[in-house]
Amino acid sequence: MATIKRILVTGGAGFLGSHMCERLVAEGHDVICLDNFFTSQKSNVVHLLGKPNFELVRHDVTLPIFLEVDEIYHLACPAAPGHYQFNPIKTIKTSILGSMNMLGMAKRCGAKILLASTSEIYGDPEVHPQPESYRGSVNPIGPRSCYDEGKRVAETLFMDYFRMNKVNIRIVRIFNTYGPRMHPYDGRVVSNFIRQALTNQDITIFGDGQQTRSFCYRDDLVEGIVRLMNCPDRFVGPCNIGNPGEFTIRELAELVIELTGTKAKLVERPLPVDDPTRRRPDITLAKKELDWQPTITLREGLIKTIDWFKSIDIGQYRPPTPNFS
Ligand code: NAD
Ligand code: UDP
Repeated sequence: MATIKRILVTGGAGFLGSHMCERLVAEGHDVICLDNFFTSQKSNVVHLLGKPNFELVRHDVTLPIFLEVDEIYHLACPAAPGHYQFNPIKTIKTSILGSMNMLGMAKRCGAKILLASTSEIYGDPEVHPQPESYRGSVNPIGPRSCYDEGKRVAETLFMDYFRMNKVNIRIVRIFNTYGPRMHPYDGRVVSNFIRQALTNQDITIFGDGQQTRSFCYRDDLVEGIVRLMNCPDRFVGPCNIGNPGEFTIRELAELVIELTGTKAKLVERPLPVDDPTRRRPDITLAKKELDWQPTITLREGLIKTIDWFKSIDIGQYRPPTPNFS
């Protein structure tokens, strides 16, 4: 029988965190979900509350906390541009102070700790697709910097705790991931387009829609992250996890229109400052080190996501900030 571990998931009530918790609880681990509910709500984990191996803690990672754990999945951080830009100073504190608090806990407990980093650390990339060796092109003083630079410093902290304090770390660079339990008001492109399509509101394309993203379905992503956490210690990352299928934002909008059968119209809105022109992961390393690659196409994943959006009562969701279209 596999060893039962005490596992902390920070940001555990969020979109990805709640799926991580679900998976780890199902594997029989003793799971602590920690969240301040800035961009999420208890309904994401309510189905786990009755389980004897699940515990929910309301806490902000910028403040110290003392728990006894064997592993930490450190996901706490707002991820949607509108929300992380709402209070940029808090965002950078969450990345930096939050990582320091969690790394301190990992050091004290001798726990393994994984950082949810991001493709945003590549900025508006001049190298395409992006391998982990690419150092990125990030504006240090723009509206996205609180997130991009915050995650870059978090990666630095993880590497320094690894080299200096021998903390057992992992770093995953997550590319755009979507699926059921995305917040309907998070303002990210997939949730916006589906919500707009289902309510027959204008579908808002920022700029001319020729910018690209590569969309990974959440199940593929969770599998990749778990493999990275459990891989032999000689590989700590950073490791890209994402789906290399690359689409323009206009192509995504057209696919959502086709799959929902909406009468909603496409409208163009101004392109946000520093919006990356293109993004696609090079996943050579994930294939080699983790034997991982995505299995779910954008069409398949969107069908599942649209079904979920149809099943929820959007009126039950509180917009975390006013920044959604
Ligand atoms: P999310 O907003 O749904 O989840 C983030 C969670 O962290 C939320 O539950 C939020 O309430 C919580 N949180 C925020 N600040 C906190 C704080 N100070 N203390 C405690 N909890 C806090 O977003 P997500 O998509 O699930 O993202 C999870 C992680 O993955 C984030 O670190 C994000 O940067 C990273 N990531 C996600 C994507 C993606 O496409 N989904 C891409 C790249 C990186
Ligand atoms: N976008 C859009 N319409 C929307 C929301 C986003 O055209 O209603 C665009 C956005 O400008 C970006 C892409 O979709 O080019 C992905 O945006 P998202 O906020 O999902 O994530 P990002 O990858 O930019 O962090």
